[in-house]
Amino acid sequence: MNVEPFSLPLSSPLETAAATIDSREGFLVQVDVDGVTGLGEATPLPGWTESLVDCETALRSVEDPAAALDSGQLDETPAARHGVSLAVLDARARASEQPLYRYLGGEAQVDRVPVNATVGDGPAEATAAAAESAVDAGFRAVKVKVGARAPDEDLRRLEAVRERCPDVELRADANGAWDRSTAEQLLSRFAALDVAFVEQPLPAADLAGHAALRETVGVGVALDEGVVEHGLDAVLEAGAADVVVCKPMALGGVDAARGVAMRARDAGVEPVVTTTVDGAVARAAAVHLAASVPDVRACGLATGDRLAADLREGVATVRAGSAVIPHGKGNIPPS
Ligand SMILES: [Mg+2]
Repeated sequence: MNVEPFSLPLSSPLETAAATIDSREGFLVQVDVDGVTGLGEATPLPGWTESLVDCETALRSVEDPAAALDSGQLDETPAARHGVSLAVLDARARASEQPLYRYLGGEAQVDRVPVNATVGDGPAEATAAAAESAVDAGFRAVKVKVGARAPDEDLRRLEAVRERCPDVELRADANGAWDRSTAEQLLSRFAALDVAFVEQPLPAADLAGHAALRETVGVGVALDEGVVEHGLDAVLEAGAADVVVCKPMALGGVDAARGVAMRARDAGVEPVVTTTVDGAVARAAAVHLAASVPDVRACGLATGDRLAADLREGVATVRAGSAVIPHGKGNIPPS
């Protein structure tokens, strides 16, 4: 197995719960499975996965990639597991002459998946203008980051978006910023704006609070951080989500994330797939994963423009609100 480090500059700094970062660093993983080469990507994001150092240690400890996956040796290092499992899946999909999304179990033939635009924090007017330009570019779903400002300001921001974009599917992501009473008041107001769902209105720890919110407000509740922290079973048992966000890098690979997505779907909870602002190899794999989920809702896969340089150009590009599935066998065409 070959492990090669990379560093990709971001086009603007990315704020995470753990730190503000200006590049995405990770490893390309190349494997040989029965004479067929497969390529994977491990791009840890502290706060969501293991650290870069722990990722590299885990990758360099792998002797037999398939055996490492089977033994569970990478289960505590989700980004490393993502890199190795994607490389093995890519090789196996190539050997079976299928695109990755079909090899993962996708039954319908598709060539693109719907994606949402993401609008960051900003004043109401700038937020509405950004949403409007996304709609003009063909996006039918827009996710607005909230929770950084006072609640009444976030309400004004979403009112401004709804006024300018009457038909768009509107979502918000609070990244766990509110307490129960703030969330209850705000989500009740969001219902009047026909907000489809709010991601992580409460801190990830508070599954019971999310379950209670679902009972009282007319807006869907999505869990993102909460799925990674508690696992899907606990989320389903608590009745805490209408929607679950599946991040392959944080969940330990596209195979593991597909398991989460399909089990959620079977339980009546809608999955959406998003990246952790990964390089083109992992982003393309996330597009394949989304394509393997029947009738998937708009996913958070329009993240390639967050990178100022990429592992590969022209892969999993977004056109008119859809991400294009790479052609051919495996994940992406060989370079
Ligand atoms: Mg989120």
